[in-house]
Amino acid sequence: MYDVVVIGGGPVGSYVAYQLAGAGHKVMVLERKQRVGGLVCCTGVIGQECVSSFAIESSVILRQVNSAKLFSPSGNLLRLWREETQACILDRVAFDITMANRAQGEGVEYVLNSPVKNIEVEEDKVKVEVSYQKTGLNLEAKAVVIATGFGSRLTEKLGLGNFGDFVIGAQAEVATAEVDEIEVYFGRKIAPGFFGWLVPTSPQTARVGLLSRHSPELYLRELLASLLAQGKIVSADVKLSCGGIPLKPLGRTFSERLIVVGDAAGQVKPTSGGGIYYGLLCADIAANTLHQALQHDDLSAKSLAKYEREWRRKLGRELKIGYWARKLFERLSDRQIDRIFDIIKTNGIDEALLKAKSLSFDWHSQAILRLLGRTVVSKTIGVIRLPSKAGKDI
Ligand SMILES: Cc1cc2nc3c(=O)[nH]c(=O)nc-3n(C[C@H](O)[C@H](O)[C@H](O)COP(=O)(O)OP(=O)(O)OC[C@H]3O[C@@H](n4cnc5c(N)ncnc54)[C@H](O)[C@@H]3O)c2cc1C
Repeated sequence: MYDVVVIGGGPVGSYVAYQLAGAGHKVMVLERKQRVGGLVCCTGVIGQECVSSFAIESSVILRQVNSAKLFSPSGNLLRLWREETQACILDRVAFDITMANRAQGEGVEYVLNSPVKNIEVEEDKVKVEVSYQKTGLNLEAKAVVIATGFGSRLTEKLGLGNFGDFVIGAQAEVATAEVDEIEVYFGRKIAPGFFGWLVPTSPQTARVGLLSRHSPELYLRELLASLLAQGKIVSADVKLSCGGIPLKPLGRTFSERLIVVGDAAGQVKPTSGGGIYYGLLCADIAANTLHQALQHDDLSAKSLAKYEREWRRKLGRELKIGYWARKLFERLSDRQIDRIFDIIKTNGIDEALLKAKSLSFDWHSQAILRLLGRTVVSKTIGVIRLPSKAGKDI
């Protein structure tokens, strides 16, 4: 019997597996795809804090980034710039492979082409039913980690509920005409309530994408046509890919002998949709909790509840304020967004925020509260009351 079976060989699943195997446990990863890193839809932008905290190999970093250009709906430009590297753009396929290699280096077994169909939690073990080749595969483990990313039915089947909210991301790899800074575009015609982006991956290539609650591919085709007309990209005749992004976590991310982590748990920044860093942070907590539970031979729901308490203590406030700001932003008209750009520039708020330690790529709540704390900004968007600064849960 395995100590832990991890379902999903994305970065988060591989990281939990790596940590648990490193602590001496017998671990298997089941991945439904034919290869790790296959068909990933992700822009791969992570903050420098994530790179340092998880020792991300430089071989999977395509570019380092210290600036971005933000465009308001009417084309007003706000350029954010800092001396030091703020973020890195990953080769997402290579990243997933290196995370799996790390785990395999600690002895984790990977079985590919193995979609998990069902999980049955019994008193002394978990039974995992896999569609593997013609015969199928039935495995037993002391505990299971669900790291299946967005859209798996397993959590719903187990009674852990659904995401309260989600959005769809659409993206394309394009050839560019020497665009060398990240560009972010706002406006209801581009990505209503969200934003679009152009992220250069090399001097001649970039990822162009956007988030939208409806018709993401239609909006992306329009964005590509507009970038082509502006001479920023070389062709708009490119293949699109799409993926779901949770905006709110599951109501419950554990039960007896079971933990849910990463996108499968909804551990994602609601402001930007970035999930790699928060997923890895929670993977760390999940692995520690399971390690202790295995050592004490206590995999009860009560023992694993520690996981949820700890990750909510770390991220709950960020997710709460981020989601509140997200909903507020979705209500803004193009005129209001343009007005905010004007206010930020004319009042030097961009300079002040950039100097403040509170503005970081990964932690947004402080900057949101500081920005909305400016009467001139909150009046423009009609904010009457800021969310509780002490809010721990969401
Ligand atoms: C367009 C777009 C752009 C994005 N850009 C960024 C970005 O710039 N920065 C960032 O931080 N995040 C970004 N994200 C989000 C990021 O991709 C996710 O947060 C991240 O992939 C989550 O990692 P994970 O390991 O939890 O899940 P995943 O990477 O989704 O991995 C889950 C794995 O589980 C496997 N699986 C699923 N079901 C089963 C099953 N039943 N049995 C076996 N295996 C299964 C899947 O095949 C997959 O390999 C973006 C997302 C989208 C859609």
